[in-house]
Amino acid sequence: MIVVLLGAPGSGKGTQGAPLAEHLGLAHVASGDLFRDNIGRGTELGKLAQDYIKRGVLVPDDVTIRMVLDRLTSTDAAGGAILDGFPRTLAQAQALDMALAKQDQRVDAAPLVEVSTEELLRRLAGRWICRAAGHSYHEASNPPREPGRCDIDGSELYQREDDTIEVARKRLEVYFEQTRPVVDYYRQRGVLFEINGEQSIDEVFHDLVDALQATRTAA
Ligand code: ADP
Ligand code: ADP
Repeated sequence: MIVVLLGAPGSGKGTQGAPLAEHLGLAHVASGDLFRDNIGRGTELGKLAQDYIKRGVLVPDDVTIRMVLDRLTSTDAAGGAILDGFPRTLAQAQALDMALAKQDQRVDAAPLVEVSTEELLRRLAGRWICRAAGHSYHEASNPPREPGRCDIDGSELYQREDDTIEVARKRLEVYFEQTRPVVDYYRQRGVLFEINGEQSIDEVFHDLVDALQATRTAA
């Protein structure tokens, strides 16, 4: 099963994506995490992506598509994947469809996690993520048990350079201009369903699991 998790920056894709993938036995493929890993390791790809990410604009399609499609060929993704943060443009969505079609696969479900702009900005401004794996916390609504430490792997928490209010606003603008057409693309395919993202983390998780299990049963 291939799932495309859709939603604006701050809607909770990362928070839901990892446990959801584990629950459903799928790989969690998050494009932002792949970029940050490359930046951390100082790779050529990381050097190229760094400047775009800092400014809150999209990394060019060719680089992004290559990186994600390459990740999808790893063995742990053979049983399916939850894509988080990709596709963000129509060109990326079309490239994904073409690559999947070559393997007789398709996007089976595209849940859209909906959250108001005001709440998105509150979430981005208070977000802390862990160095080791990008696990997400919020200083008010989802604090770690021990301040500054990840509950799951004990690594240090930090605030992303692109989570300032100015860059967050820019990222939301980019989302509405460039990524919203992707939502319509999946709606026309009949695989899109909306999830209310302004519930507790557990409630959003249960809605996602119920809808995805129904999709799997129907397939
Ligand atoms: P968030 O989850 O807060 O939206 P991400 O971690 O997914 O943020 O992405 C961080 C940044 O990485 C984006 O602002 C963008 O610069 C880059 N990026 C991530 N995914 C893509 C993509 N599919 N296409 C282009 N750029 C991307
Ligand atoms: P995305 O990956 O879509 O950019 P994240 O999963 O990183 O979003 O979540 C953004 C911020 O909102 C984080 O600080 C996270 O702890 C918090 N958050 C996620 N889901 C919820 C929720 N349902 N209620 C309140 N805060 C949430």
